[in-house]
Amino acid sequence: ARAAEVNAGPAWLNAIIWSDDAAAVREAEAIDARRAAGDGDMPLAGVPVVVKDNIATLDLPTTCGSRILDGYVSPFEATVVSRLRAAGAVIVGKTNMDEFAMGSSTEHSAYGPTRNPIDPARVPGGSSGGSAAAVAAGAVRIALGSETGGSVRQPAAFCGVVGVKPTYGRVSRYGLVAFASSLDQVGVFGRTVDDAALGLQVIAGHDPRDATSAQHEVPSYRAVANAGTDGQPLAGLKIGLPKEYFPHSLDARIGGRTRAVVEHLRRLGAEIHDVSLPHTDLAIAVYYIVAPAEASSNLARFDGVRFGRRVAGDGLRETYERTRSGGFGPEVTRRILLGTYVLSAGYYDAYYKKAQEVRALIARDFAHAFEKVDLLFTPTTPTPAFPLGAVSDPYEMYLSDIFTATANLTGIPAMSLPIGRVDGLPVGGQLLAPHFGEAAMLRAAYALE
Ligand code: GLN
Repeated sequence: ARAAEVNAGPAWLNAIIWSDDAAAVREAEAIDARRAAGDGDMPLAGVPVVVKDNIATLDLPTTCGSRILDGYVSPFEATVVSRLRAAGAVIVGKTNMDEFAMGSSTEHSAYGPTRNPIDPARVPGGSSGGSAAAVAAGAVRIALGSETGGSVRQPAAFCGVVGVKPTYGRVSRYGLVAFASSLDQVGVFGRTVDDAALGLQVIAGHDPRDATSAQHEVPSYRAVANAGTDGQPLAGLKIGLPKEYFPHSLDARIGGRTRAVVEHLRRLGAEIHDVSLPHTDLAIAVYYIVAPAEASSNLARFDGVRFGRRVAGDGLRETYERTRSGGFGPEVTRRILLGTYVLSAGYYDAYYKKAQEVRALIARDFAHAFEKVDLLFTPTTPTPAFPLGAVSDPYEMYLSDIFTATANLTGIPAMSLPIGRVDGLPVGGQLLAPHFGEAAMLRAAYALE
């Protein structure tokens, strides 16, 4: 019954929005029984894990941080959740998030904001801010989040924990509520690199229930922990520094920390190369066309008939209107409007089609860079965690994703790991790898930790 001892953190944190202690205790007892019956194949036996609230669970609500799904309990379970439970994990709670994963601060939740455990006056990042905060506060070692444009890596950086976004298709999306299907991927938070590697190991792999899930074999992510020669664990590894990720406008403290890590990588045996990803400055514009376009289509299903809350009106149309206008918050509404606009007949070529073309150019930049180097290293975010309420302009909020959105647009794996603090606030360094290069990325992360 270790689950019962889990401290969800102080109430002001608001990291976990749904939990059921009695159910968690029952699950923990079931795991004890499995162990007693000789089930030795449980790498997470009795380990408490929390899961972002856009990942379907049978016992706890799945609300996506939205009023429109208030009280909604899924009739089925996400594949990632089934895999965690098969590995012996106890799901002890659902974590707070920006509504439908749209945001970078966890301030856009219908259930109130989550605070940063390192500094309660600041945001934990988002949209998976609840999961990042739960790990940073010491409530759990491993948490699941989701990524559409940086939503695991950015909060990991703001909270000083490890966050991994796998290759698109590496982890099943079955049971992950869709935001932008061509970008979405479940990600893992860990207190350490090894915790994140372990979590990824458990959830990775092909799932026949997700048509975009890859058949690619899953290597052992923890076997790379001490690979390489002693003292020079990264000997022979080529790491690129994309110059566009170190702009003059970068917070000098973050630039300083990042460059210190580059020196450390060199001492560990890595070869450092300067590279260029010339279309980087277009990534935010492309992301904020593609993601809302897909979201406007995916969110059409929340109509007051099929899921969650219904506000009845006079006839179907009025029911839709009342349910949706009362159920979605302002950021989600903005995305739906933006998405339907860029997909509309007269504007499709000018926006959506153009964005997909530029997306291909961004992918080509990465393909070229990975002809020369094995990994890329960059800052995860342009600034440390900002104070609650400090960013009210949506466009300014979107700029938090400037270094992270590219991995989602191209489908490559990426991770953030803590690289120290500036003015007491955590800073994250980002490693990016070619498709299915998680092991190489984790190898560098293990060596840096
Ligand atoms: N901040 C980005 C957005 O608001 C990314 C969100 C995410 O990765 N889920 O869309």
